[in-house]
Amino acid sequence: MNIHEHQAKEILKEFKAPVSNGIVIYSKDEIEDKISILKGKQYVLKAQIHAGGRGKAGGVKLIKNVSDLVSEAKKMMGKILITHQTGPEGKEVKRLYVEEASDILKEFYLSCLIDRESSKIAFISSTEGGMDIEKVAEETPNKIITTKIDLKSEGPSKEEIENIISIFNFDESQNNVASKLVQSLYKILIEKDASLIEINPLIITKENKIICLDAKMNFDDNAIFRRPEILKLRDLNEEESAEIEASKHDLAYIKLNGTIGCMVNGAGLAMATMDIIKLYGQEPANFLDVGGGASKEKVTAAFKLILADKNVKGILINIFGGIMRCDVLASGVVEAAKQVNLSVPLVVRLAGTNYKEGKEILDKSNLKILSAADLNDAAKKIVEAIK
Ligand code: ADP
Ligand code: MG
Repeated sequence: MNIHEHQAKEILKEFKAPVSNGIVIYSKDEIEDKISILKGKQYVLKAQIHAGGRGKAGGVKLIKNVSDLVSEAKKMMGKILITHQTGPEGKEVKRLYVEEASDILKEFYLSCLIDRESSKIAFISSTEGGMDIEKVAEETPNKIITTKIDLKSEGPSKEEIENIISIFNFDESQNNVASKLVQSLYKILIEKDASLIEINPLIITKENKIICLDAKMNFDDNAIFRRPEILKLRDLNEEESAEIEASKHDLAYIKLNGTIGCMVNGAGLAMATMDIIKLYGQEPANFLDVGGGASKEKVTAAFKLILADKNVKGILINIFGGIMRCDVLASGVVEAAKQVNLSVPLVVRLAGTNYKEGKEILDKSNLKILSAADLNDAAKKIVEAIK
């Protein structure tokens, strides 16, 4: 789960990391009431959307006075902002953040994330702040340091911290602030079950202050249940409506851009199914894992979700019945297909527990279903059927 910049900055503040004063506004009429708490001569108006690259897309504006602020806020609120991270459809701006403007001397990059490959916590630090870190890694890898540390309750050691911040070339007092910041990020990652905290840019001002000027945080969905204070920050406006619907039914669904809808049990099998669709020249419309012991209701909901996607031209159901029973799946599919008036080709491959009963239910349903012997056959058939 992602949160907004202003929310991430609240968390940073709670963990004693340096951030500027700011106010969040949901309507331009709130500005004049709220603005008085901000000091500083100038303001920065920042669109709050779950995507980076706002600066280049007109979503971050330096403002000289309150009257300009009100008129710029009016323009920005409700605007569809298209950045390199939003996709071509962009994202509607529904809240704004007004922050005291900083006089920037230099921008840096600092992030902290779970590195699954090494089962460690990785800190990435770079002198190239305000840039896409992927691009920096590709073009100037010598300007990045990655420090991988073991998970331990006391946090990173003195040497590890020194390594992380060494690339910044700070003086002693700046190093003290940066060290504390590294410790705060580590603490947030652990105590809030974050999977990524990215400060880009981390800045040093002309008055020699270190500030986290932008903040992105991502949290582990599987740990959200024990972090109600984080779940409260969820903004459904920012999420794909199909994915919200899926989470209501406890389905692991991710919308993709292809044309073949997939319904599979097990994440590994779901990925293999997506791969084989690509192998036969088509693209999957979604990732969907209905899980181990899915009920008929859950299967019905999953099937409706797939069909709600206007890009879907055909559906491939691939079930290996272990705990999942193929007859339950078949009943759910038949039920849903009748409810939604199925009009696209459907290929079903069933194997495992009660597959014969499942096949019988499908055969008797009068639905036009192509059955497949194995995964290869299934992929070939669905790709052929949508041509
Ligand atoms: P994004 O990453 O979405 O483009 P940022 O918050 O990083 O948004 O802002 C983009 C750039 O705008 C920053 O790199 C910085 O140069 C400038 N900026 C952002 N906030 C402020 C601020 N409070 N004061 C001065 N400049 C800012
Ligand atoms: Mg940024």
